[in-house]
Amino acid sequence: MEKTFIKTGIFGGTFNPVHIGHLALANYLCEYEDLDEVWFLVTPQNPFKKDVRLLDDRIRLEMVEAATRGYPRFRASDFEFGLPRPSYTVDTLRKLSETYPEREFTLIIGADNWAKFDEWRSPEEILRKYQIMVYPRSGYDLHIPDTVQGHVKAVQTPLLEISSTFIRRAITEGKDICYFVHPEVYRIIREKKLYISE
Ligand code: ATP
Ligand code: MG
Repeated sequence: MEKTFIKTGIFGGTFNPVHIGHLALANYLCEYEDLDEVWFLVTPQNPFKKDVRLLDDRIRLEMVEAATRGYPRFRASDFEFGLPRPSYTVDTLRKLSETYPEREFTLIIGADNWAKFDEWRSPEEILRKYQIMVYPRSGYDLHIPDTVQGHVKAVQTPLLEISSTFIRRAITEGKDICYFVHPEVYRIIREKKLYISE
């Protein structure tokens, strides 16, 4: 009998904080593309690149957990917290496959990242072993060369041009942008007084 794998999309980011642009995209991919689940992999702080503005790993994870709890096909993941840093995508995917042999992983990236994909570490290995879904970002051409057809799929998703940078700045400026993040994320931001001063 043919083995069936749980089709798991990997969506990585700093999620500082996670916003409705991230959530709507991942939600769309679960419902309209061939994915059973999407895992939000929170990228930990790189100790060699101490960006003081990047919020503590645990708080960013807590916000992703809060935002993803209400939808059974999402999972908040701290998988990269336990890996050597900085973690390269190819290493993370290798470890994920070892740890979860019952799953088939698909990398979810934006057209902005796809444009630079050949500069990543071991792009050929990623292409050979994993599926990649590329979603549109405004200002970027979404071109998939014939040589990688079958490994890389361009997905047509609605575009919500919201960024974490915008959210952080808006809060610092005292704006009430409550509808741009999940209500539970907004609650955490207010309770912990996050992003008040950048
Ligand atoms: P920042 O403004 O701090 O760069 P961000 O909003 O881009 O934050 P990231 O944590 O960098 O958030 O995003 C994680 C992944 O989601 C990245 O690959 C990023 O390109 C993508 N992404 C960010 N915003 C959106 C959006 N509005 N719609 C779809 N994908 C997005
Ligand atoms: Mg970004």
